[in-house]
Amino acid sequence: MDLIVRNAKVRGERELRDIAIDGGKIAAIGPGLADRATQEIDAGGRLVTPPLVNPHVHLDKALLGEVMRPNVSQTLEEAIAITWEFKRAYTEADIVKRAGAVIEMAARQGALAIRAFADVDSVGGLMPVRGLLATRERYRNLVRMEVVAFPQEGILRNPGTEALMWEAMALGADVVGGLPWYEMTDADARAHIDIAFAIAKARDADIHMLVDDTDDPNSRSLEYLAVKTLREGYARRVSASHCGALAAYNEVYAEKVIGLVREAGITIVSNPHISLVLAGRRDREPIRRGITRVRQLLRAGVNVASGQDDVNDPYYPFGRASQLEVALFVAHTAHLTYPDELETAFDMVTVNAARALRLKGYGLAVGNDGDLLVWDAATVKEALTKQLPPTHVVRGGKVVATTSVQSKLVV
Ligand SMILES: [Zn+2]
Repeated sequence: MDLIVRNAKVRGERELRDIAIDGGKIAAIGPGLADRATQEIDAGGRLVTPPLVNPHVHLDKALLGEVMRPNVSQTLEEAIAITWEFKRAYTEADIVKRAGAVIEMAARQGALAIRAFADVDSVGGLMPVRGLLATRERYRNLVRMEVVAFPQEGILRNPGTEALMWEAMALGADVVGGLPWYEMTDADARAHIDIAFAIAKARDADIHMLVDDTDDPNSRSLEYLAVKTLREGYARRVSASHCGALAAYNEVYAEKVIGLVREAGITIVSNPHISLVLAGRRDREPIRRGITRVRQLLRAGVNVASGQDDVNDPYYPFGRASQLEVALFVAHTAHLTYPDELETAFDMVTVNAARALRLKGYGLAVGNDGDLLVWDAATVKEALTKQLPPTHVVRGGKVVATTSVQSKLVV
């Protein structure tokens, strides 16, 4: 065997397990395995999980916070405008440098699968896609990275974008993006969704759209996206991020839309720390949290995941690319605080996110990829509380990152 992790606490199992990896795959799992390996790690009863998965992050814009002017209004609209100033001057090397820094930050903290959005529009053309495709190639051995061709300026309101979307997919982007609610009319939002489906079906690609990212209850593109998904036979191949307006709908309409979302097998991705910052800006007290109906969606049986979205860019001033921190934010904002709900918050950055990306070979089972994390905690609750990176990050049976934290009280 190449690697054995001994005495691992695996979620849902009472007894400690040994996990053996050989040839990049999990070869055996069981208590007290007799096998020997080139490298052994004693987890000593600590939690061992599959890797974290980030289903939504904008790596082309990441770390612009270091060089940009401040977002005076702190709104999404001004964030888009600030980004134009940089997008016109992007180079491939600049994007790879910033995106790569975030990939490395994320991998050290256990995220080994990342869905990265690249703007496709008349401002930056295809440069963000080229930059992220180069980043994907450069970090191929560290993370599974997907590139989403994302029309950040809309498709109909930004003429020329449809042709660029086709080109982006031909260049090698993995997923068709969308931003239907940002179009100027409801009819255009539906046309936007139709165009995205036409491209996705031609390329046999999945779809991930940013949907109704507003407090405005009149923003209703999620309903059409769900119906379109059903009619096109695209169940379980579509994700919708944000969906803040769903929280503002009346109960009757919200329940109808949630029913359609569940039937269409759409994953909802809620990025709570970004919504906390950008949504509710026009509210007087009490100010809404800005997230979608996470608990209600979960109760209805919808796959709900959570992502980092932004790292130090015009939209959000912080961001450590820590999916463990994202899980903590979703636990707070969605009221997921009972013991089993803490497990759900952790699911949202692991198994649920992996389901959204339709990752093959994900999870601690024989025959799956030899990817795992050893935590400095015995339980999910302790990991969420401590917010420490994993002590060991393992990809394909190789340790790719280690972290040790030392602190001493000197009195
Ligand atoms: Zn986003």
